[in-house]
Amino acid sequence: MKLDISKLDNFIDEDKIWNIVNQNTDADPARIQDILNKALEAKGLTLEETAILLQVENPELNEAIFETARKVKKAIYGNRIVLFAPLYVTNECSNRCSYCGFKDTNSELIRRTLTAGEIKKEVCVLEDLGHKRLILVYGEHPKFGADWIAETVRTVYDTLSEKSGQIRRVNINCAPLDVDGFRKLHEVGIGTYQCFQETYHSKTYSDLHPCGHKKYFLWRLHAMHRAMEAGIDDVGMGTLLGLYDYRFDTIALLAHAAELEKQFGVGPHTLSFPRLEPALNAEVAFNPPYPITDSQFKRLVAVLRLAVPFTGLILSTRENKEMRRELLDIGVSQLSAGSRTYPGAYTDPDYDRPEVQQFCVGDSRSLDEVIKEIVQHGYIPSWCTACYREGRTGEEFMKLAKNGFIQNFCRPNALMTFNEYLQDYASESTRDLGRELINSEVENGPQKGRKKLLDSLLRIEQGERDLYI
Ligand code: SAM
Ligand code: SF4
Repeated sequence: MKLDISKLDNFIDEDKIWNIVNQNTDADPARIQDILNKALEAKGLTLEETAILLQVENPELNEAIFETARKVKKAIYGNRIVLFAPLYVTNECSNRCSYCGFKDTNSELIRRTLTAGEIKKEVCVLEDLGHKRLILVYGEHPKFGADWIAETVRTVYDTLSEKSGQIRRVNINCAPLDVDGFRKLHEVGIGTYQCFQETYHSKTYSDLHPCGHKKYFLWRLHAMHRAMEAGIDDVGMGTLLGLYDYRFDTIALLAHAAELEKQFGVGPHTLSFPRLEPALNAEVAFNPPYPITDSQFKRLVAVLRLAVPFTGLILSTRENKEMRRELLDIGVSQLSAGSRTYPGAYTDPDYDRPEVQQFCVGDSRSLDEVIKEIVQHGYIPSWCTACYREGRTGEEFMKLAKNGFIQNFCRPNALMTFNEYLQDYASESTRDLGRELINSEVENGPQKGRKKLLDSLLRIEQGERDLYI
């Protein structure tokens, strides 16, 4: 892999970001209300407006932020929630990220890289639970280049379980590649390429990433540029909360998104905001240098919803079930569920061991338990992958999303994939609840398209699969 950083610039102007944070504290309530009124139009926010909302301390105004975020979320996404699971392919890693259990110096971690056969076994377990969307996760090691990663993706797509399950979208979270490497991932049909900058503060970044390829801040900062240059137009970005001041990192993340939009006409497809979790032999993970409280975290998610209304917001099982429940209403559009965080975990009967995991999960419920709970709260679980398979990605997707497409296409597609789940995988109690939800959604949903939707739901009950519009 060519790792040439000589011509890369740091488009994150740290002084400018800090000025935006510092000059927008303690704003006048009338100004905050103006920003919320603007946010309701779902046109997004400037970095200054975002910084103002991020720093609102008044409880009533905070509640107004949450209420606005709920409205925007509902108007754009309705009550759908997309579900996925991570599949860890290797935990071998030559980097030394001080917060991660996979760092090279962690000699107590049991290292493992799945063979093609082992990947297939893990995928079959996930398919038999009902998963259709996976994110493959990799440590970074010179042994594993783009060709090998592409081969693991092919293996996942080619695995069919006996229950007729098939993974329909494979996303990737791996270390940044060069343009040729990204092209190989594009050619093999990955969905989203996801990579977190961790922190945009270069000095903190250098301190926490002392060796391996990951020490090159600019190489990582330009990862999405290279991915897009290679034709991957769905990218997922994020920062790891707890490493540096969350206000700085949030504004910088949005500046990064704006930079991509300026250069490529489209920003990130999704944003993630993982918080540090305890990890074996990773002191920083137990004592985050910049901890973010629950209330700051909730406000951050609501503000992101308002700042980039059409960008998916992803929440992992790092958070506990109570927090996950609250964040659904105020912004999150994709949830992982039933996750296990090491290679071979889904086929491991004795899986809950710290000496293998990347970090400890906060919500260890099964996929069916998570689905049951979200259905009880009126959400439609979705495994829809129609857009990506129809080529409605990147700029094309964003244009459609801004014109009410999500409600007209994503909603029926969500109901169809949910009906498949109920037929093939759900427990009896989830199935009963799910059927009630589908009936009420059809009855109370728009007249337009109802007949077609009813017909598709019936065809699914009669055994057809993978229907979508
Ligand atoms: N090795 C690749 C990389 O570093 O980009 C991809 C896989 S890495 C396992 C995925 C992400 O896990 C990292 O980008 C980091 O944000 C997150 N992570 C690492 N340690 C963590 C911890 N202790 N708690 C929460 N998230 C963590
Ligand atoms: Fe390796 Fe990624 Fe963990 Fe860093 S975060 S040690 S690169 S797996």
